[in-house]
Amino acid sequence: MSKGLPKRSEDYSLWYNELVKRADLAENSAVRGCMVIKPYGYSIWEKMQAQLDKMFKDTGHSNAYFPLFIPKSYLSKEASHVEGFAKECAVVTHYRLKNSEDGKSVVVDPEAKLEEELIVRPTSETVIWSTYKNWIQSYRDLPLLVNQWANVVRWEMRTRLFLRTAEFLWQEGHTAHATKQEAIEETEQMLDVYAEFAEKHMAMPVVKGIKSANERFAGAEETYCIEAMMQDGKALQAGTSHFLGQNFAKAFDVKFATKEGGLDYVWGTSWGVSTRLMGALIMAHSDDNGLVLPPKLAPIQVVIVPIFRSEEELEAISVKAKEIMKKLRALEISVKFDNRDTHKPGFKFAEYELKGVPLRIALGPRDLANNTVELARRDTLSKESVNLNEVEIDQKIKGLLEEIQENIYKKAFDFRTEKTTEVNSWEEFQDVLENKGGFVSAHWDGTSETEEKIKELTKATIRCIPLDQEKEEGKCVLTGNVSQGRVLFAKAY
Ligand code: AMP
Repeated sequence: MSKGLPKRSEDYSLWYNELVKRADLAENSAVRGCMVIKPYGYSIWEKMQAQLDKMFKDTGHSNAYFPLFIPKSYLSKEASHVEGFAKECAVVTHYRLKNSEDGKSVVVDPEAKLEEELIVRPTSETVIWSTYKNWIQSYRDLPLLVNQWANVVRWEMRTRLFLRTAEFLWQEGHTAHATKQEAIEETEQMLDVYAEFAEKHMAMPVVKGIKSANERFAGAEETYCIEAMMQDGKALQAGTSHFLGQNFAKAFDVKFATKEGGLDYVWGTSWGVSTRLMGALIMAHSDDNGLVLPPKLAPIQVVIVPIFRSEEELEAISVKAKEIMKKLRALEISVKFDNRDTHKPGFKFAEYELKGVPLRIALGPRDLANNTVELARRDTLSKESVNLNEVEIDQKIKGLLEEIQENIYKKAFDFRTEKTTEVNSWEEFQDVLENKGGFVSAHWDGTSETEEKIKELTKATIRCIPLDQEKEEGKCVLTGNVSQGRVLFAKAY
């Protein structure tokens, strides 16, 4: 195996990039900002998708699919929406290539110019609301609860594998409602779904909150978000849920006959999480030896590595390994038996450590003689010998996987607690951001000007106005003006 990973404490950014590549998660592609998600990385994303998809369906949503291309004119129908996305749109202008005059290459055929240019979707509100116009006539057609799994393109200038790419995979929910209240409840419900997914499945604690006007989604009345803390003390917006008011209904003229006999515009929401969650998962838990995956999202939860010198030894070990695998599979625990004779056990140990497999079982001739196995935990790197005469191995492993899931969460939670600081003066604010990092809880006067000034001076932005914040009057850390409550600032990805 090649030399170790860079250390987090020395170069966090390099550590992250190297880990993503060496753990076989993803790599850069020929097009700047676009990535290839490799099979191992994709299998983690598939586990995320499967769980989220179940949660969406359990809350009444159905999947559909809308086109990749959006007529350019659609985008400009909602004024602030186009303003927000125009700067990062990929535009299709032609539909054909032809041979160049010297025959050595191909060029765009000027005769194949599209009458109306097309946008590669950066998000699908416009194409979806233009469709909803045909689907919604009366209150009986509502609510409309639709989700789509898709790729989108935002021409980002500063990209980083998973966290910010020019093309990314995501899901986008788009719902339509008869009342404002119902739409707000939907927005909040989906935020709760995201928070539950982050905490229970990704083992990543998040703060639920509302974005300030500066950070609000272009076209939304209110943006709710979940914010997570990475191990370098930077924040990451991990998911958003938008209350769209009647903005898109007005832009696309989507009206419905109300129960009372009137005609009104429909209320909307949209919500999304992306492959950024992969970056969050990696950055929240992994260590200098490699990935640390929460068991609930690990494609392989248990790996069995045989230690053998001869084929006879391997055969004898295989019998035992198969017995264990059968028991584990009966409990729906995913297990792999790595019986390759092309690699030494030490190599395999390092590889599964790098790939974050939560539990490793080593089985050698001595274990067979004693009816034992050696169990190693990825999260704590601790090992123990388990006597199979005394312990039900499947129950033991089931329990350990649960313990690991909890332990990873607790570690991230304690880290976040340690990295969250309440400050009351501008000096403290700067000092904490500079020397400690993390979330800074401070009073803010509620104006965009102050938020921008703070960003200019410190690079920190308002991550959110936490939903569970207690009302507390105070003075803005920068201006000294009246503040209605604390907000969370941080440097962010
Ligand atoms: P938005 O539509 O801007 O609210 O974003 C929806 C979700 O996509 C959020 O969870 C974002 O964190 C995520 N996201 C936004 N831009 C990118 C990007 N360039 N790469 C990956 N994820 C992104």
